[in-house]
Parts: sequence; structure tokens; C-alpha cells
Amino acid sequence: MTSTIDDRAETTPGTVPTLYHWAGGARLEGASGRTSEVTNPATGAVTAHLPLASDDEAAAVVAAAKAAFPAWRDTSLTKRTQILFRFRELLNARAGELAEIITSEHGKVLSDAAGEVARGQEVVEFACGIPHLLKGSATENASTKIDVHSIRQPLGVVGIISPFNFPAMVPMWFFPIAIATGNTVVLKPSEKVPTAALWIAELWREAGLPDGVFNVLHGDKTAVDHLLTNPDVKSISFVGSTPIARYVYETGTAHGKRVQALGGAKNHMVVLPDADLDLAADQAINAGFGSAGERCMAVSALVAVGDIADTLVDKIAERARGLRTGDGTRNTDMGPLVTKAAQERVSGYIDAGEQAGATVVVDGRTGTYDADGDGFFVGPTLLDHVGTDMTVYTDEIFGPVLSVLRVDTYDQAVQLVNANPYGNGTALFTHDGGAARRFSNEVEVGMIGINVPVPVPMAYYSFGGWKNSLFGDTHAHGSEGVHFFTRGKVVTTRWPDPSHAGLNLGFPTNT
Ligand code: NAD
Repeated sequence: MTSTIDDRAETTPGTVPTLYHWAGGARLEGASGRTSEVTNPATGAVTAHLPLASDDEAAAVVAAAKAAFPAWRDTSLTKRTQILFRFRELLNARAGELAEIITSEHGKVLSDAAGEVARGQEVVEFACGIPHLLKGSATENASTKIDVHSIRQPLGVVGIISPFNFPAMVPMWFFPIAIATGNTVVLKPSEKVPTAALWIAELWREAGLPDGVFNVLHGDKTAVDHLLTNPDVKSISFVGSTPIARYVYETGTAHGKRVQALGGAKNHMVVLPDADLDLAADQAINAGFGSAGERCMAVSALVAVGDIADTLVDKIAERARGLRTGDGTRNTDMGPLVTKAAQERVSGYIDAGEQAGATVVVDGRTGTYDADGDGFFVGPTLLDHVGTDMTVYTDEIFGPVLSVLRVDTYDQAVQLVNANPYGNGTALFTHDGGAARRFSNEVEVGMIGINVPVPVPMAYYSFGGWKNSLFGDTHAHGSEGVHFFTRGKVVTTRWPDPSHAGLNLGFPTNT
């Protein structure tokens, strides 16, 4: 197999490779004349040039997916499942390669990248059970000698548009189920982290997936707008920031598509006075600074209830100061931010928080990092006495910045969480089962952790937030994913029987 990594190795040392689209099982070289740069965030080095598709190129990739659909739709579930199992085995054997690609373009540390691959693999494993998941229902004698059965069929070409922060896992929330249910896929990865998608395309080919079932389209707004408006694309699964998610939802649905658009987040971790504060401090660090805070389920707002705030802040600060920030391929806890622009934006938010009156307990704007070159680092940052009107609280920062808000009571904490326009994830830390049950019941958020800071549901449940964190009705993967990528039919059957002959123009009723 010729992988993208091998291709890179083959390029002349010192030259920067140019990537390509993937359509109909083959490379499609970019011809639009527009490119963007892919960088290694730990060093700042440009590692690849990425072609950005023109409208015509996007149309060509969609056409390849459309051409592959009829045969794939009619491929038996047995054969589809065998290919999925082969893909799973290949991914298990080579997960390390994919993790390295993720670290080299996103910056997260290798162990975190491996965790991302593992969470994506869970969806592949879920999709391996597709024969069972696709079973319809049947009723004999719904009316006299009339039987009814239901089936679910694929949509056709489905579009997946993914963000930079999970180059493998987020696409894998969708494409294993889309493919298993008989659709063909056009994946438009983030232009910041494009190589994982190409590596996955090669893996599918090796697993025996027919050409054209999985395609990769690189690009920016032009490519996205094409997917949103091309009538041959039947659905859009989007993950990204809230403004773009809203735009994608509104534009896609206006063009008759089924759309699930997952947006941004502001995730709260509420710590009650009875909680184990050492556990809470550990988990605040993991959830606030893992992946440099570039997770849609990162905890960015810690709500300390009652008189525990000073102690908790001290414990978190002590741990934060001990974190090793640097190149994710080295022995580090936290990597860089994805781009120079992200680094500057996050630093700017810390400045704004300080100017607005927050206390900068741990300051990540300066520091030393275990990396060569000129990487995009911001160290772990802890802000205390943050108010709900400060931009560090109102905006999704998407960086290693943990804001502490202090409230007196449980009720105030829940009001604060529920007043926030986002509703992706939240966590409660307590020993009180009654409080935990009440929190799960009252809080207006899609995914809740009780003493679990990053409550990402398993593949057989569905992932998705409420409010500005998701536009559309359907969450990702699990049974909702199967539902999203299929449409239902109900078949009512009567086999001719002379005793039922005769005209009756009345509305059919059951007899
Ligand atoms: P983004 O919105 O900038 O980009 C997402 C995708 O949209 C990319 O493929 C990008 O190329 C495309 N895009 C960017 N600008 C566009 C435009 N003007 N028109 C059309 N398409 C456009 O998001 P990002 O910075 O790549 O990812 C981080 C964001 O994603 C954060 O807000 C994070 O919370 C969110 N996210 C959410 C979830 C979730 O499950 N809710 C999961 C992961 C990430």
C-alpha cells in the first residue's frame, strides 16, 4: 500500500509535499490554483501544501461518490460487514501511524492522539453490528391477510465536514455508520489537519471498500458551500464552531438536506462543597488542559460552590504549574495550539480577562516549552474570580484556559450553567447521590458527567449537545446515527386472494 506517509518520505528532503483530493479510489490532484499551508504546530514548520477545491473540483468528487452509490447500496450486509471488520483490523494494527499524523498536524500529545483513534475505532466496532442495527420490524395480519414490514434504506451521497481538533475521531463519528448503512461519503476535513483523512482513505482501499464509497474533498468555504447546495448530496454531518454550524444548518436545510450540525461549547464543571477536592483538582486539570483545551468537551468554566474555592484553586494551581508543555512527540503533558492565530487569540483572551478583573493565578502567556523551532504554545492558565460578563467566560476560548467562577449555592450553580447559550457537556463533582440525580434532571445540557469530567458517550449511545451546541434533531453515532443515515419505508402487503376481490373506495381501515 502506498500511504501518504510513504509519499512524504519519497519527496526530496527539504521540499514540502503537495496533498491531493481522493475521488473514486484515486488521487485527484488539485487544479484550482488555490492552496493553504499545513503546519506542525510544535515547530511552526510548514509540512504540506493543501489544494483548496474549486466548485468544479467539488462537483467531480461528489460525482465519484454518486457513481459508486447504486452498487454499494445493493452490496449485501454480509459483504459490507466483512469490509468493516477488515478496516477495524487494519486500524488496530496501524493505529500508531494515525496517531503520529494527528500529533504532527494538530499538536496534541501522542497518547492523547492514540486515545482519539481508539474512540473513533469504537464507532467502527459499533458499525460492525450493522445487520442487527438495520433490522426492521414485521407484523403479520395487520389487517386480514395483510402484512406490514418496515425497512430503512441509505440516503445516497452524504457529506461530512469536520473540525481541526479531532482529525480522525470526529469523521469516524459518522463515516463508519454512513458506509455500513449503504451510503457513499464525501469527507471534507479541516484544512488545518488534512492528512488523517487521506490515510484513512488508503486504509479503506486496503480493506476492500469499492472505489468511490469513501472520498476526500479538501477545501474551505467554496467546498463547503458546494456540499450544502449540490442536490446530489443528501445529508450533511457538520462539526465545528457555532456560527458556521448555524450557517451550515440553515443553508443545508434550505437546500432540502438532512443536517446535523454540532457547534461550539462552554462546558462547566460544578464542584459541590462535599466533593473530594483532590479528585476534582486532578480532573479539572485533565479536562481543562488535555489537548491544550482544544476539545469541544473541555472544561473551561469551573464553578466552585460554597467555601471550597480557595482550597480548590490552590490545588489546581499547584498541579497546573507542574505540567510539561511542549512537542507532543516528546515526554510532555500538553502540546501547542493548532496555529499561530489560535495562540494569539488565546493570549488575547487572557489579557482581556486580566483587564476585566480576573485574577491570573497561573499565567500561560509566557513560559519555556520542550520543543524545537517556533511552536504555537500557550501554557496552562488558571483564572480566578471570573465574572459571567467577561469574554473569558462568554466566549469559547478553545485553549488551555480554565476560569473559576464562585457561587454560594447549588441553585446558583445550576442557574449559571442553564443561562449559558451552549449546552454540550457538563460535570458535577459530589458525594451526594441526591444532588447528582437532581443535577442530571435539571441541567439543560446534552451530555452530563457525575464525577466524570469529559463525559463523551460510548459509540452505542449518541453524542450531541443542546442549545447552540447542536443544530438539528439528531445526535452523532449510536442508534441516532443509524437513523440519520437511513430513511424509513413501510411496506403493506397483500398477496392476491379471490375472497378479497371487489371495489371499495373508502379510506383503508383495519378489518
Ligand atoms: P470551524 O467552524 O472553523 O471549522 C469547521 C469546518 O468548517 C472546517 O472543515 C472548515 O473548513 C469549515 N469552515 C470554516 N469556515 C467556514 C465558512 N466560513 N464557511 C463554511 N465552512 C467553513 O471549527 P474549527 O476551528 O475547525 O473547530 C473548532 C470548533 O469545533 C470549536 O468551536 C469546537 O467546539 C467545535 N467542535 C464541536 C464539537 C461538538 O461535538 N459539538 C466537536 C469538535 C469540535
